[in-house]
Amino acid sequence: MNIPKGKLHDECGIFGVYGMENASELTYLGLFALQHRGQESAGIISGTPDELNIHKGMGLVEKVFNKRILDSLKGNYAMGHVRYSTTGSSLQKNAQPLLVSTDKGELGIAHNGNLVNAGKLRKELEKEGSIFQTTVDSEIILHLIARGKSQSFNENLKNALFQIEGAYSLALIRKGLLIGLRDPNGFRPLCIGKKGYAHILSSETCALDLIGAQFIRDVEPGEIVYISYSGIKSEKFVQTPQRKSFCIFEYIYFARPDSVIDGRNVHEMRKNMGRQLAKEHPVKADMVIPVPDSGNSAALGYAEESGIPFEMAIIRNHYIGRTFIQPTQDFRDFSVRIKLNPIKNIIKGKRIIVVDDSIVRGTTSRSRVKSLREAGAKEIHMRISCPPHRHRCVYGIDFPSESELLAANNDISAIKGFLNVDSIGYLSQDGLMKAIGSKNNEFCCACFDGKYPVCYDDDLSKYIHEKDSFIREIQ
Ligand code: SF4
Repeated sequence: MNIPKGKLHDECGIFGVYGMENASELTYLGLFALQHRGQESAGIISGTPDELNIHKGMGLVEKVFNKRILDSLKGNYAMGHVRYSTTGSSLQKNAQPLLVSTDKGELGIAHNGNLVNAGKLRKELEKEGSIFQTTVDSEIILHLIARGKSQSFNENLKNALFQIEGAYSLALIRKGLLIGLRDPNGFRPLCIGKKGYAHILSSETCALDLIGAQFIRDVEPGEIVYISYSGIKSEKFVQTPQRKSFCIFEYIYFARPDSVIDGRNVHEMRKNMGRQLAKEHPVKADMVIPVPDSGNSAALGYAEESGIPFEMAIIRNHYIGRTFIQPTQDFRDFSVRIKLNPIKNIIKGKRIIVVDDSIVRGTTSRSRVKSLREAGAKEIHMRISCPPHRHRCVYGIDFPSESELLAANNDISAIKGFLNVDSIGYLSQDGLMKAIGSKNNEFCCACFDGKYPVCYDDDLSKYIHEKDSFIREIQ
């Protein structure tokens, strides 16, 4: 998949159903609603009383599945995954869910997040003779469960969870059982829904809405929910509560605006961020313009708070495919313009406030500012609805290295110069917490403040990279 470099990439989405005929069809629809969380690969495992069936492939959900495939994914329980790679390359072998045979039966896994001690664990397992099929950290969890000595699957699962560290919202499937769980810090979302008698697991509530399911509750950090024909059971696998560290970036950018996480609607939170941004960085201007779609909600909030008119003066092309023609000098800003194009008639001669959710490397924002200047903008004031990105993410978001992050290497006046804007304002971290209504520091903000809630080991990326570059998959 040709993914533009300027934007952050979503990580993964998981969805599961227990207790409904043709559960794979509902899972397919759920994955459609979660497509924004991963566009590289998609897969579904479904279960009958006798067997588990799997299909997965590279590309969007609509490309990976068709009616024939869904018809063959039989059974009344299923779970699926959409992926953007954060560990392990974008290869067919790394597509999820993963399904393995163990001496305790078949076991499937779908993972959202990143383990921070995966390098260490994988090296230890390989030393003891484990053979890995993929280069994703999720496979380590399967190995740890499969090696469990207990007769009880639940005990083996908990023992595996005690050994892994980092960010993980998981769906697991085995004969007659669907399991959902979240890591003790609760980095990534996972919620429970109900449709008729069926129980649903989903990364976001927007997928529940799509299938007409009712939201029940979020899975708690450190909680395992077991869903079977006898209903739903829950247990905590950590006794001491950790500091909750939900990824603040889910609210800023990743989650869909129509989702509700921990009782907060994402669109409303983004509007609040825009309002707070207007309080912190007011400026006289003729209009507030969002960078679509990521800046829409925050721009609306900024406009409401400031009383400056909101205008959709940048138009997004929703129908971008891949072009095999490499743009030449004649089309220097091709990749920026093909996606977003300013309306000259509205912008010409105006003082504009441009609102976006984040700046990563800054190259895309700079090209965008250039096209706004060419459209005749008199003044351009950039407003960003989160603090400057100075640190990378080790919990499952594909940030570039710190050397490539614009704000890690430049102060505000250098950023203003680089982007060629008349002013720039980022939302402060205190302002972000205020906008979201957080009093208890229950978020991970490590990409802004460098305070990583769970220590990390950097081995895996290097270790995996070597393996990925040695094995080439012909697609
Ligand atoms: S470092 Fe940033 S992107 Fe990563 S989990 Fe924390 S808040 Fe989210």
